[in-house]
Amino acid sequence: MTHDELASQAERIDAYEALVQFLYRAPIGLVQAGLDGAVDMLNPMSSSLLMPLARDGSLDNLFEVLRDVAPQLPALAASFGQPSGVVCEGLRLPLGAAAVPGGPQVLSLSILKLDADRLMATVTDATAEVQREQERLARRLRTQARTDALTRMPNREAVLEQLQQMLARPAGGPGFALLFMNCDRFRQINDAHGQAAGDRLLVQVGERIRGALRPPCDRIDPQSGAGQMAARVGADEFAVLLDGLRGRDDAERVAARLLDTLARPHELFGQDVTCTLSMGLVWSGDAGNFAGEMLRDASTAMVEAKRAGGARCTVFEPAMRERAARRADIEADLRLALLEEQLFVVYQPVVGLGADGVVDHAAGVEALVRWRHPQRGIVPPIEFIGVAEESGLIGALGDFVLRRACRDFAAWQRALGPRAPRRMAVNLSRAQLAEPAWPETVRAVLRGAGMPAHQLQLEVTESLAAQDQEVQRRLHELKGIGVTLALDDFGTGYSSLSSLHQLPVDTVKIDRSFVCQADTSNHHRVLIEATVKVAQSLGMGTVAEGIETEAQARVVRELRCAKGQGYLFSRPLESEALLAWLADAAAAGATTAPAAA
Ligand code: C2E
Ligand code: CA
Ligand code: CA
Repeated sequence: MTHDELASQAERIDAYEALVQFLYRAPIGLVQAGLDGAVDMLNPMSSSLLMPLARDGSLDNLFEVLRDVAPQLPALAASFGQPSGVVCEGLRLPLGAAAVPGGPQVLSLSILKLDADRLMATVTDATAEVQREQERLARRLRTQARTDALTRMPNREAVLEQLQQMLARPAGGPGFALLFMNCDRFRQINDAHGQAAGDRLLVQVGERIRGALRPPCDRIDPQSGAGQMAARVGADEFAVLLDGLRGRDDAERVAARLLDTLARPHELFGQDVTCTLSMGLVWSGDAGNFAGEMLRDASTAMVEAKRAGGARCTVFEPAMRERAARRADIEADLRLALLEEQLFVVYQPVVGLGADGVVDHAAGVEALVRWRHPQRGIVPPIEFIGVAEESGLIGALGDFVLRRACRDFAAWQRALGPRAPRRMAVNLSRAQLAEPAWPETVRAVLRGAGMPAHQLQLEVTESLAAQDQEVQRRLHELKGIGVTLALDDFGTGYSSLSSLHQLPVDTVKIDRSFVCQADTSNHHRVLIEATVKVAQSLGMGTVAEGIETEAQARVVRELRCAKGQGYLFSRPLESEALLAWLADAAAAGATTAPAAA
């Protein structure tokens, strides 16, 4: 051997020694064993890691040491067919009761088959890693519990938690606001287009809301007092938290921007669908101490926005709490009223206006509901129809009125024969039309009362009749039964004379606000005249509502309005009183027209 060769051999031996030294001191447990687990060699780290598992302190056989925590190892090694390779990798071994307090709780084991009769195992302490994994998992679960599954937006819990943190900040900090939004006609859209379309719509609404905010919009840093959070807090309800505002104006500007974007139609499976939202806004200065309370206040303001026609934002004022409480009282009382039959129906005559001044008293009546409240006396419908609509009681209320009206109508027919009123008009609410089975109810009520369908007229308002295809379809279904439809309060809503032909109605009722100025304002006269002409050209009848004076009656008759209704002829009357009124009119001779007198 040359000097160089000797030197290089010495170097190799040094390097081998260094490797052995390194493996010996390595911060990882190393074990060399036979295929049966019999230990040939192990470094100090592996003995310290394995010692808690060793029975009688013996580490002679790896499989024996690990018998309780990994009983599968002997079989695993024996069945490993290849001459070399990975037998197992990163096997987690929880030490359980064997763990030393403060020491490793979980080991990680990998076994490599080196050749026909040797295994090399590595053992490490996996405690910290397992803990980190568990924390990650817990965080994920926590986020999941605060995330809406459909839209991936934060949910109600998340908003409440965030809000509570903001409310707990010392006074004098930055202002913030909560916006609470509810889709105006979500249920109808869901019913008409299916649940998949409804889900898609909600996702799109969520995206629009986020798009209208400055990103990021799912996070608020409670310390910096800035940021915003958009969340889905109910089936068709969304909330936006705005932090770091100078004043309420800032919040109102964002609200207006949101309403603007949300008013644009959505494309749902190839169809354009409009879904406006109603919004309530609570400014931090008006908020109470609790997140739940603030959310409730925002929802109260939202309900007011909805009541005002929807697609708008209403700013919460503390007085609204009282109004909401009163409505809740009315709702509770109304529930009882339906059960205890405190509701009853009165009938206002709708008379025919002959060109010659002849008044036809038996043309028809309109059914109007009344409530005999045990403490408050007679409550007018304006005070409870809205509450009934919002609380879902309108279905029961409307059915009651329809049933009673048809029953009374049939009774008058039996009592008076040809002198009985020829038509019964009943008011319809939006919620009744939303019910797919409602036309069937109408058919059953008519059958039960023995009343021909054409003698029933259902009154709908312009805004309702002009609404969406679903409502239109239901109205056509009703016409299919044979009932007629009247457009109530014409002139107060959105649709105009030019869109009258699109509505499936037979009669137009000209609103009292026009009729009451018929004799004093030329403008109103012209409007009435135009309405009558357009209606006639479309083959529709006309009724002038709220005629109080003979002058008004004369004008509407001259304008060829076919029928009239109002205090001039009669106030709404109970069934008995109506019969008496009809009898009086008949006795006086049908030709004595009040308007001609
Ligand atoms: P509406 O359908 O426009 O009913 C006509 C209203 O005008 C009635 O008030 C009636 O009493 C009143 N009225 C009639 N003639 C005159 C008049 O010459 N002068 C004045 N100042 N008023 C007159 P009411 O009974 O208080 O009903 C108010 C509204 O409540 C109704 O307006 C209707 O929208 C709703 N409503 C009443 N009953 C029902 C019902 O059974 N179901 C539903 N959904 N709504 C109803
Ligand atoms: Ca009406
Ligand atoms: Ca009306």
